[in-house]
Amino acid sequence: MTRCRQTARTFNALTLRKNHLAGMAGLLAAVLICGKAEASTPVPTAKPTHAATQDYQPSLQVVAGVPVPIKKRSVPDGYVPSKPKLVLYSQFPAKNYFGAADGPAPLKARSIGSYAKGCLAGGASLPPDGPTWQAMRLSRNRNWGHPELIDYLKDLATDAPSVGWNGLLVGDLAQPRGGPMISGHASHQIGLDADIWLTEMPNRRLSTKEREEISAISMLIGPMDIKGADRRVDPAKWSNAHASLIRRAASDKRVARIFVSPTIKKALCKFEKSKNRAWLGKVRPWWGHHYHFHVRLSCPAGSKGCKNQNPPPPGDGCGKHLTYWLSDEPWVPKNPPKPGEKPKVVKKRAMALAALPKACRTVLTAN
Ligand SMILES: [Zn+2]
Repeated sequence: MTRCRQTARTFNALTLRKNHLAGMAGLLAAVLICGKAEASTPVPTAKPTHAATQDYQPSLQVVAGVPVPIKKRSVPDGYVPSKPKLVLYSQFPAKNYFGAADGPAPLKARSIGSYAKGCLAGGASLPPDGPTWQAMRLSRNRNWGHPELIDYLKDLATDAPSVGWNGLLVGDLAQPRGGPMISGHASHQIGLDADIWLTEMPNRRLSTKEREEISAISMLIGPMDIKGADRRVDPAKWSNAHASLIRRAASDKRVARIFVSPTIKKALCKFEKSKNRAWLGKVRPWWGHHYHFHVRLSCPAGSKGCKNQNPPPPGDGCGKHLTYWLSDEPWVPKNPPKPGEKPKVVKKRAMALAALPKACRTVLTAN
């Protein structure tokens, strides 16, 4: 029997013995003692008596010393937690926003802005594997483009074997929502540019690791930046199949330009023996581009706000312009750094979000 019950019984007996006042006072004392006793009685806590396991979820919590059951919130079927709203700051580098987008903007497909200042709505992805193509460097998540670019690449890949090329190894297209990239290209922003390796697809599927690590092969015979350098493709690496593939790639109506090293352009000028030299006009000499060639499509129909470049000058581009590109002039530095002197590095300021078309904000926030 507890101490409080004993106390109550004693004072009840006093009341019965007609010592009424004393009895009543005693009863009051008993209530006080009992109340105190109840309050100091240990209450069960939410802690389990057994050793807590990692996935132990308490069903009770202690509120002001009293255990109460925890209310479980019911989650309705099909409930999808809302994503936190993306806050856009105009002066922040656009590449940070676009580089963080891991999926396309669920909007109607549209290339917005210009090749080096824009973004992509409704991007489609090139599957990593097709019958005659394999996408490379999958970790970069740059196998996205306007659906017209994806269609174009599939068509080119389908035709590749008929021109003596086993299949395509496809490098960077664009990020899921286009825009500037954290590293690499200045262009490739509106989902209409694609790099295609000048290395043929092998007869087997490359592993994910191989696709990260394998290097493309340069077509150059030697360095370009030495006075009087031999600026040609290496005949041991360059073949008619390379030339045939680029001709097929450039002959497509959807293509605006293809960028290659001037050494490759020279080889192509020599390769084309027929009178049909119109495709050569689209193939433009540019820096780099001796490991891959870069295809650029014209703005697709329905891409409001997509800015085409001016068309390339008329002719096949095999004349004076190419002679200049193959001279020392563009390659040999005028003021080479003196021995021991560090070459100057000019740091470019990252493009701010404000520099892109306004519609690119909608592309970033669309969910
Ligand atoms: Zn490129």
